[in-house]
Amino acid sequence: MFTTTIAGSLPKPAWLAEPEKLWPEWRQSGPELDEAKRDAALIWIKEQELAGIDIVTEGEQFRTHFVHGFLEHIDGIDWSLKTPMGIRNNRYTVDVPTVTRALSRPEPVHMREAEYIHAHTDHPIKFTLPGPMTICDTIADAHYGRRADMAMAFAEILNDEARELEAAGVSLIQFDEPAFNAFMDDVNEWGIATLERAIEGLKCDTAVHICYGYGIKANTDWKKTLGEQWRQYEQIFPALDASKIGQVSVEYANSRVPPDLMKLLAHKQVMVGVIDVATDQVETAEEVATRIRDASAFVDPERLMPCTNCGLAPLSRAVARGKLQALGAGAQLARQRL
Ligand code: ZN
Repeated sequence: MFTTTIAGSLPKPAWLAEPEKLWPEWRQSGPELDEAKRDAALIWIKEQELAGIDIVTEGEQFRTHFVHGFLEHIDGIDWSLKTPMGIRNNRYTVDVPTVTRALSRPEPVHMREAEYIHAHTDHPIKFTLPGPMTICDTIADAHYGRRADMAMAFAEILNDEARELEAAGVSLIQFDEPAFNAFMDDVNEWGIATLERAIEGLKCDTAVHICYGYGIKANTDWKKTLGEQWRQYEQIFPALDASKIGQVSVEYANSRVPPDLMKLLAHKQVMVGVIDVATDQVETAEEVATRIRDASAFVDPERLMPCTNCGLAPLSRAVARGKLQALGAGAQLARQRL
């Protein structure tokens, strides 16, 4: 009960990349960079094990950014053709690369990384991939015409990738879909269908992570416009609950999401964010245990997986380590009390 895991990313050590940045520059190149990434992944796997985290991740040590780290390996994208795009329904504008031809994946993207992690831990492994809708919100289309069609093309590619990760020993594959909170109509119209295409044929556990983003300024400013209650989940949870996806990762700690919305996920495992990623303040085990107990009023304890609200990448290494320890210790406390 209360199986713990984190949403995904962890900070990169300062010797691997610029610290406390979302788009850091690597400190090495070539074989030295590959070795440094593996070393960093190993450290974080060990940190998670020591903290008592049940399902461990490589903390995205192998990629600069959770979307572009995948897209760099996909054929059909013109990286020199930059198109300005209002990301997440115009929350912020970024010059994004453009899809100019049919998409394809010439070779596996993360398979060797997954094999490496599998060889270095006895814990179940979670691997995160960008979701089709969120990818399409981070790249411009000059080929498919309809965003839903481009998303389905990405879903097919992601499915090939996910099948290889499963074969490499991954127990839980999670698709990150922060865009689900910005395009609720599209989620119901085609977003969930593309997600189901991405998990087709998988026997391992599957999840979708839907958050209100990293604790960066563009997100905290956006959150101020959402009013007293954030009810985006209400529009997408009913269809998600009826979908084939196994687990849903949601924001909860210090959030204005009404917690009773989690009741809409009655048929899912729910990864409940009991660690706030928008503050450097490290939670105590007591605080985490209290959040787990409070959330248990809306999610049965058997289905509740204590998690972080979102990735920990922009935080300092020390703060991230503290939050891992708080998550592990808090879940242990909650188990004892139940
Ligand atoms: Zn997130």
